[in-house]
Amino acid sequence: MSDVRNVIIIGSGPAGYTAALYTARASLNPLVFEGSVTAGGALMNTTEVENFPGFKEGIMGPDLMDGMRAQAERFGAELVPDDVVSVDLGGSVKKVTDSAGTVHEARAVIVATGSQHRRLGLPNEDTLSGRGVSYCATCDGFFFREQDIAVVGGGDTAMEEATFLSRFARSVTIVHRRDALRASKAMQERAFADPKISFSWDSEVAEIHGTDGKLSGLTLRNTRTGDTSELPVTGLFVAIGHDPRVELFKGQLDLDEDGYLSVDAPTTRTNIPGVFAAGDVVDHSYRQAITAAGTGCAAALDAERYLAALT
Ligand code: FAD
Repeated sequence: MSDVRNVIIIGSGPAGYTAALYTARASLNPLVFEGSVTAGGALMNTTEVENFPGFKEGIMGPDLMDGMRAQAERFGAELVPDDVVSVDLGGSVKKVTDSAGTVHEARAVIVATGSQHRRLGLPNEDTLSGRGVSYCATCDGFFFREQDIAVVGGGDTAMEEATFLSRFARSVTIVHRRDALRASKAMQERAFADPKISFSWDSEVAEIHGTDGKLSGLTLRNTRTGDTSELPVTGLFVAIGHDPRVELFKGQLDLDEDGYLSVDAPTTRTNIPGVFAAGDVVDHSYRQAITAAGTGCAAALDAERYLAALT
């Protein structure tokens, strides 16, 4: 068993790396578990990021994350490309177990495990992700100016994305598997009143088609009759929800009503002293790299103050 560290950070997206940078610069020698599959987080799976401040020509997602990683490492963050498989957060010394079964101890833990967007689970979905298929209108809407696009989903997020996208797109078709929406009345009314938005009711996406490596259309299936039809679109926004990565923490950290980690906002404090949470594992309304980085910074400062008060 290793010595008790100051801080362990779980997660390596913008929130985790920013927390690592700040805690490293505060001489807290953070140990960062990056995850074994997607070190660098969600932006490792995207192409151009045009809305992270400071990069006026935009930057490729993996390049942005490599930069954050190198910056944290430069100040002494210890980065481990491994998963945390269990945690024991209750005592004043927190225990974090890696995939080899080694237990690491720290006085403070920052959770930055992100969230996973729900996929349709169709062939072509992954290969065309970033090439017409998107999970974030705020991130990608600008790329679809004067194009015909579809939004899948029937909740508030889908309506919000569709009304946002109608600013850029020529047309937006909302594909919904039922004949009524789950979205709040206000959001529905905004979507119904938008002349660029139309609805494909009782419909699901059966197939995603690509031409020359880019999205070219969808086959829709009527959920009542089974009939199929073609929808030629160059953009598909999948807005069927996100799953915050909270499994490890259930029973220890409080969750909010939507299943995200609950913090004492505007701080990043969880219900357990010495445990802080940041980024998309907490955030179900903004979900941006810059907001994740911002709360990662806040978590580092909260942890720093917590540790200072212990001495
Ligand atoms: P994440 O980036 O999700 O990182 C979480 C990390 O935690 C992952 O590396 C994961 O491996 C790790 N992890 C999870 N569990 C464990 C564990 N048990 N042990 C160790 N590690 C663990 N935002 C923008 O601002 N602009 C964009 O253009 C943009 N484009 C996007 C394109 C795509 C395709 C996607 C999916 C998202 C995009 N976003 C964009 C959103 C942005 O990526 C997220 O808001 C941001 O990455 C959230 O950061 P995070 O640090 O909270 O979590």
